[in-house]
Amino acid sequence: MKQSQLFTKTERFAPKDEETINARLLTRAGFVEKLMAGVYNYLPLGLISLQKIEQVVREEMNKIGGQEILMAMLHPKENWQTTGGWDKIDVLFKIKSRTEKDYALGQSEEEVVTPLIMRRARSQKDLPLYVYQIHWKFRDELRAKSGLLRGREFLMKDMYSFHADQADFDKFYEIAKEAYLKIFARLGLTAKVTEASGGSFSKKISYEFMVLTDAGEDDILYCDKCVFCVNQEIAKQKAGETCPKCKTGKLNRAKASEVGNVFDLGQKYGQDFDLGFTAKDGTKKYPVMGCYGIGISRLLGVIAEKMHDDKGLIWPEEVAPFKVHLLSLGQNEAAEKIYKDLLENNIEVLYDDRDISAGAKFADADLIGLPFRLVASEKSLKAGGLELKKRSEDKSEIVKEKEIVKRLK
Ligand code: ATP
Ligand code: MG
Repeated sequence: MKQSQLFTKTERFAPKDEETINARLLTRAGFVEKLMAGVYNYLPLGLISLQKIEQVVREEMNKIGGQEILMAMLHPKENWQTTGGWDKIDVLFKIKSRTEKDYALGQSEEEVVTPLIMRRARSQKDLPLYVYQIHWKFRDELRAKSGLLRGREFLMKDMYSFHADQADFDKFYEIAKEAYLKIFARLGLTAKVTEASGGSFSKKISYEFMVLTDAGEDDILYCDKCVFCVNQEIAKQKAGETCPKCKTGKLNRAKASEVGNVFDLGQKYGQDFDLGFTAKDGTKKYPVMGCYGIGISRLLGVIAEKMHDDKGLIWPEEVAPFKVHLLSLGQNEAAEKIYKDLLENNIEVLYDDRDISAGAKFADADLIGLPFRLVASEKSLKAGGLELKKRSEDKSEIVKEKEIVKRLK
C-alpha cells in the first residue's frame, strides 16, 4: 500500500486522557482511535494487525478440530434468564426495545451456543463437538483505563466444547491448553499458566494464560525455576516463599495480563436448558462442556506493551500490518521498481511515497514499527542498492536491487 493513500496520519503526541503505553502508541501510530472509554475504532493498520492475530488463533483452533461459526451478538432476555445470568452477571449490558422487549448484548455465549449445539447433538455418537467464533463482546466494565487491555467492546475468540463424559473432556482440555501455548508463542509472547481450582466443593479447574506486563491488571506469583504460577487473588502463597511445586525455586510477584483462559463448565448449561443427548445405554445425559477464551484485541494491546522502544512499536512478523516499510528519499524511480517487485512476490509492503522530509519518514517508520525498513536514497544507490534495516536492530546494510526480493522472502 502507498502511504500517500493511507487516510491516517501519525501524531507526535498521545491523547492526554490515554495513560497506557499501548493506547498511546497505537493511537499515535494510527492503528486505533478511541471513541469513548473502553471503545475503540480500528483503522487500516490496526485492523490488519487484529486480523493477523485472528488468523493465528483460527489456524490453531482448526488444527484441534474447532468448527468456526458466527453467533448473534443481540440476545433474547429469556436465554439469560434460563441460566440465571440476567440477574447475576454484573457486566451484562441490557437493552430495552421501544416495544418493551428486553435484550442482552453477548458478553460470552454459553446462552446461545448450548441450545444451538444440543438441538443438533441428539445422541452420543454426535459428540464430542468443538465450535468457536471470533466476535465482539460487550461488557459493562467499571474501569476501562488500560487501553485495548480492557474494553467495554472487545474482540474475543470463544470456543465451546461438548463432551459425552468427564474423561473425554479432560483429554480435550489438555489439547486446548497446548494449542493456546502454541498461539502465544507464534505471537512472540511467553504465557505463564496459572491453575486455579474452581472452588473447594468441585473438582473443576481452570487455566489462565498470563503475560507479564506492568500494564496488566492481575497480580501473579510465579516460580523462578519451574512452571508453577498462581493468581495472587486466590493464592495461599506469598512472594519470596519457596515454590511449593519444585521446592527449590523462589516465588516472584509480577503484574500480568490475562490473554486467555480455559474453563470447565461441567453440566450446568445442558441442565439449565434441559437439553441432553441419548447416551449409548439409552439414558438421557447432559453434556460436559468447556469454554475457551482468548482476548484478541487485548492481545494487540499486550503486544504493543511488550514490544516497543522510545521511538515506537516493534511488531513481530506474525502481527505486523506489513512486513516491509519502503521509504523513498528523493529516489522515486528505484523505489517504485522495488515496490512493484515486492508486490509481485506477495511481500507485504507499506511504501512511503510522500513528498515529506527524510526525518519525518524515518520517525514514522520507527513509530509504526514494521519489521524491516528499506530506504532508497542517493546515498544508498551510490553504495550499490537500498539500505535494509531491521526495526529491532541498529545495524543496516546495503542490498543490491536484484537481491532484495530474495532477502525479504
Ligand atoms: P478479566 O479477569 O481480565 O476480566 P475474564 O476472566 O473476565 O478476564 P473471560 O470472561 O474468560 O475473561 O474472557 C476471555 C478472555 O477475553 C480473557 O482471558 C481476556 O483475554 C479477554 N477479556 C476479558 N475481558 C476483557 C475486556 N474487558 N477487554 C478486553 N479483553 C477482555
Ligand atoms: Mg472480567
